[in-house]
Amino acid sequence: KNAQGQYTVTLIEGDGIGVEISQAVKDIYSAAKIPITWEPVDVTPTLINGRTTLPQEAVDSVNKNKVALKGPLATPVGKGHQSMNLTLRRTFNLFANVRPCKSIVGYATPYEDVDTVLIRENTEGEYSGIEHTIVPGVVQSIKLITRPASERVIRYAFEHAKNINRPHVVVVHKASIQKLSDGLFVEVANEVAKEYPGIKVSFELLDNTCLKLTADPADYKDVVMVMPNLYGDILSDLSSGLIGGLGLTPSGNMGDTVSIFEAVHGSAPDIAGKGLANPTALLLSSCMMLRHMHLNADADKIENAVLKTIASGAENRTGDLHGSASTSHFASEVIKNL
Ligand code: NAD
Repeated sequence: KNAQGQYTVTLIEGDGIGVEISQAVKDIYSAAKIPITWEPVDVTPTLINGRTTLPQEAVDSVNKNKVALKGPLATPVGKGHQSMNLTLRRTFNLFANVRPCKSIVGYATPYEDVDTVLIRENTEGEYSGIEHTIVPGVVQSIKLITRPASERVIRYAFEHAKNINRPHVVVVHKASIQKLSDGLFVEVANEVAKEYPGIKVSFELLDNTCLKLTADPADYKDVVMVMPNLYGDILSDLSSGLIGGLGLTPSGNMGDTVSIFEAVHGSAPDIAGKGLANPTALLLSSCMMLRHMHLNADADKIENAVLKTIASGAENRTGDLHGSASTSHFASEVIKNL
């Protein structure tokens, strides 16, 4: 925070629709007079000694500001540099990915009472990137689970449950099959749970959670779910589908000192550059960011205007929500509703 009461936040606009949805955020923040000064950085990767590396200015900016808002970054499939999302999470040790998913009043979906909170381990598991060919036609991919990474994300889940007053942590796993790796995750969860006698802990197999979540999401209203990396990736998209899709769901990548807030969705190459993208997910991610910075009134102001706009009718909603509005029309309606 500077002498004028402004906070500087690093902005990574991202690829594809990232530019369009970031513009919407900037326009709305400036109209709402939110005390944020954006510091835009370029994260185009460079390869140093065969490792994907972030530009130093970007690293310095995030380390200085401690908080960043990020649009989606495209990852080439099967070749080229490593995922920049992974590089960012590793560089800043963003060990917990918090993904809330709440029904939007005024946008009807088969269930009206979805209110899930999912915490995904963000640094290892199936994303350890250790893969090799043993002989042609046989590849091996290593899922890495460690006690320290499991412990810190599980402890984060219990702390988060305490902070948001949810009495129950559900540990989602597949230890019936991945006996050692998920077995360790479950073992650590049992240990950490003992430190939180006021919070109930239970254990669920991933397939069972998918069934229960789609059969009756209201069962998860008082729950914080925590799980290894890939399960969280998949289950959070499933939760997004329940409330109307990827255009709506925010997330926070939390570390000990730095946090990066981003939409759950990707760069949407199919609609990029056409003015069709829904900026809601990035806007709601920015609201998570404002609350993390204790700027709760500013977060409420933005969130209420966004929700009011979505509820105001199909002419003000983007195509993913069966509406006809462009990104910029949606943003100007949000500004009117501030
Ligand atoms: P995607 O999320 O980009 O798109 C999936 C579908 O959802 C598409 O039909 C898209 O048009 C739609 N969609 C997504 N966001 C939307 C929005 N805001 N408004 C309206 N419609 C929206 O997933 P994908 O196509 O599998 O991935 C595209 C690229 O994004 C890949 O390179 C992938 O690696 C990357 N990606 C990045 C992140 C990230 O930066 N955190 C996350 C996921 C995927």
